[in-house]
Amino acid sequence: MFTSLRARLWLTYAIIILLIITILAIGIFVYVIRHPLIDRQALVQLDAALKLIQRQINQRAIPARDYQQYLNRLSESLAIRLILFNPGRDTVLDSEPDSSSIPLPDELGSGTMRGLIDDIDGKTWLYSSWVMPGGDLLVLALPRYGGLQLLRSPQLRETLREDFLPSFIRAGVVAFIAAVVLAAWMGNWIVRPLQNIENASRNLSNGEYEHIPLEGPDEVKALAGSYNEMIDQVQAFQQSQQDFVANVSHELKTPLTSIQGFSQAMLDGTVDSGPALTKAAGIIRTEADRMYRLVVDLLDLARFDAGTVVLDRKELDLEKLLRLVVNQLIPQAAEARVKLGLTVDHLPTCVGDEDRLAQVFTNLVDNAIKHTPENGFVKLKASSGSGLVRIEIIDSGKGIPEEHVGRIFERFYKVDGSRKKEAKPGTGLGLAIAQQIVHAHEGSITVRSILGEGSVFEVIFPVVKADDQTVVVAKEEI
Ligand code: ADP
Repeated sequence: MFTSLRARLWLTYAIIILLIITILAIGIFVYVIRHPLIDRQALVQLDAALKLIQRQINQRAIPARDYQQYLNRLSESLAIRLILFNPGRDTVLDSEPDSSSIPLPDELGSGTMRGLIDDIDGKTWLYSSWVMPGGDLLVLALPRYGGLQLLRSPQLRETLREDFLPSFIRAGVVAFIAAVVLAAWMGNWIVRPLQNIENASRNLSNGEYEHIPLEGPDEVKALAGSYNEMIDQVQAFQQSQQDFVANVSHELKTPLTSIQGFSQAMLDGTVDSGPALTKAAGIIRTEADRMYRLVVDLLDLARFDAGTVVLDRKELDLEKLLRLVVNQLIPQAAEARVKLGLTVDHLPTCVGDEDRLAQVFTNLVDNAIKHTPENGFVKLKASSGSGLVRIEIIDSGKGIPEEHVGRIFERFYKVDGSRKKEAKPGTGLGLAIAQQIVHAHEGSITVRSILGEGSVFEVIFPVVKADDQTVVVAKEEI
């Protein structure tokens, strides 16, 4: 029944308000029992009745012989016990003859007296007495209820019924209305933003990506904020998926078109001479190689994404590894007329995957040579300190425009025009793979570049010994 948030809020408010009213009622009840409020009320009633009698008798409105009759009538109408003692103090009238008799009050003055008196059975009465002009003593009495007996008191019942009950009913009604209004307002405040999130989530499955306004209580605002972030991420992910498919298609289409064209020319006989055939076959081979490289790179990245790449970590001599990379690329640098050098400033023995690290440095040096004009230089500088190994690949190439620097590690990202001039155009995946490999070694890779002056790619690794368990500490330093 109370399944909705609004209904539960309403119920909670109603319960809280009812609880407060009940506690208040109990408090007031205890106060009334503990304090002689009801006694005072009874005494006031006795006084009022006595004053009425005194007035009537003093004004001689009632002849002395009719006292008894008058008092009997009065007793019935006032619900007060009246006892009349004659001047000899014998009881001449008791309006409640069946009740236990009340003895004569002890201290009797000449005028009116009031107080408590016990009847012969020990029951306490509140009384007011008056010595009448003829010497008779009139006693007006009301039973006194103490403690829980008070519940039987007609005065209490009357007080509760006439004074308290209407106030409590009014308070209850006001509280009920307040609970409904408050619950509606609170419900709106909390539920509306939640409903927005629910609607937006439903629309999401229909492909509608909408941001939710940040409103309502902090927790709901935080939820809406997280939802908006999630929407952004989902959109970004979808966009990157689309870009990825478009990029792969584009990268495959170019060599495929070439292969199709040249193989068709060979079939048509357009290319029939020996040298032309060799050239066509060579192009087909080059393009097929390029496709192969692309597929290998994609598979590599896919395995990194899936976390299935297992590094063959071994102790390795990093200096030896760097020399090997440089030696392998010397012919390429010579061909590009670029000076290639290596400076090593004492490197400790590290742990890592030799082949993968060689792949990283080959890619970085290869890129540097490719992007450095004739007579330029490419330098490798390796040093260590503070538990880290730092390798810089510095070139005096054309540099990378500022707007591209932050993106060159993205998959398929190529700085405009860099491809077309190359004999062996890259796939735009080299740096993305290098970054994955460096990260898998708990390292970092960054780039600084000044347009027209050159670039510096910096790779930093923590020095990890074969028995070292402190990789995490070193990682945090990076
Ligand atoms: P590619 O396979 O195309 O070389 P990479 O991921 O290795 O792809 O490099 C991405 C882009 O970064 C390259 O297209 C190139 O424009 C730019 N780049 C990489 N290294 C350098 C460098 N040393 N100097 C200038 N530009 C560079």
